[in-house]
Amino acid sequence: MPVDASPPPHAASEPCPVCSRAIPDQPTERKYHPFCSRRCQQVDLMRWMNGRYAITEELPDDEPFLQDE
Ligand SMILES: [Zn+2]
Repeated sequence: MPVDASPPPHAASEPCPVCSRAIPDQPTERKYHPFCSRRCQQVDLMRWMNGRYAITEELPDDEPFLQDE
């Protein structure tokens, strides 16, 4: 039996950008596309708004980058 290297016909949907959870391929879930749920949709919206408001304010200077080289 030959191994088919092509992707499966029913490709998995993109994971939720907020919680990285796999999004079920259901109409009720896809309603919040590309998010898995209304909650994650709200989270992303809040992040977007916070980020938008943040640019109008001065950035805090007390958050040094902690990088191990
Ligand atoms: Zn999610």
